[in-house]
Amino acid sequence: MISIKHLSKKFKNPDGSVITVLKDVNCEIGKGEVISIIGPSGTGKSTLLRAINMLEPPTGGEILVDGENITAKGYPLHQLRRKMGMVFQSFNLFEHMTVLENIMYAPMELLHLPLGQAMSEAMELLKKVGLVQKAEVYPSSLSGGQKQRVAIARALAMHPEVVLFDEPTSALDPTMVGEVLSVIRSLAKEGLTMLIVTHEMRFARDVSTRIFFMNEGIIYEDGTPEQIFEHPVHSATKAFVNRIQKLVYEIDSDDFDYLQIHSGLSRFCIKYNLSDKTDLAYALIKEMLFEHLRGVRPLTLRFTYAELSGETALDFMVEGISASPLADASALAGIRARVKDIVEEPTTRGFRIKILL
Ligand code: ADP
Ligand code: MG
Repeated sequence: MISIKHLSKKFKNPDGSVITVLKDVNCEIGKGEVISIIGPSGTGKSTLLRAINMLEPPTGGEILVDGENITAKGYPLHQLRRKMGMVFQSFNLFEHMTVLENIMYAPMELLHLPLGQAMSEAMELLKKVGLVQKAEVYPSSLSGGQKQRVAIARALAMHPEVVLFDEPTSALDPTMVGEVLSVIRSLAKEGLTMLIVTHEMRFARDVSTRIFFMNEGIIYEDGTPEQIFEHPVHSATKAFVNRIQKLVYEIDSDDFDYLQIHSGLSRFCIKYNLSDKTDLAYALIKEMLFEHLRGVRPLTLRFTYAELSGETALDFMVEGISASPLADASALAGIRARVKDIVEEPTTRGFRIKILL
């Protein structure tokens, strides 16, 4: 359906120097595929999506859509706009139109749909994204998650053959990420062809037929979710998918800033949707620092979250010792019952007590 050959994109900086953002992108995308594009920021993911729908015409190579070269001079771009919908991080709704009008606008203007039909199709789409009751309101009264669901309905109103999503959940409050991802999931089940740039690793693994890992302006590795997440070939892919988010505090004495740890922990848990762990983690930190590891200073406290596996852990690390700083083995019995596991182990630089939450 889409065939990309030797695609490149260079930008000219104001000082005349040139940066090559896409180097040599090659891929084939079939009908009904759901492809998640993952990779570090600044590696050209957005530029690739914008090149595919010619918002940012490429400087080299070609893109064939249904066999037609859309990069050729004179290719009618309005035709391409009908085939491809795009959903941006920042919604881009028309603020002066109601939700319903937002969705009806393009089908009436560009497809010349009669009012009645445009309206009934728009209501069907609102049903699909769960927002029928918001048809008559203006976007300003909606939450971010609701706005993004309207933006998805608006993209679907043109009956596109493929929809491109550029980080559709990145601008959302974490509590609203789920409602948008579940709409995209249901579209995948219906067989809509989609390209999704996302940082949501578990979502990408669950929903995609294929994953593109982009790095340094190329599709560095391409495979099924299983290949990319479980058996990546390249070390850069492996490092990226197994990335661990961390919160680290150095505890030097007993007058450390306890409130700072609490607020840092809360923010971290909200950001990664771990709010059900906040209280337990906080209680354990207190117990460890003031009882079991009282006087063991300095130590490093780490709260870690592996996005892909979901493993969440509290680490207490003490440098320069090779045996457990705990007086006796039964010290942690009271904690053991409340957590998944406790591992006490020497490290290259000292000793670690790792509590898996
Ligand atoms: P990603 O989406 O993977 O984070 P982008 O595609 O947004 O990456 O950007 C890749 C690189 O291209 C970045 O270094 C960015 O600064 C540069 N870039 C993107 N758009 C432009 C532009 N219009 N002009 C100049 N540089 C750009
Ligand atoms: Mg981007």
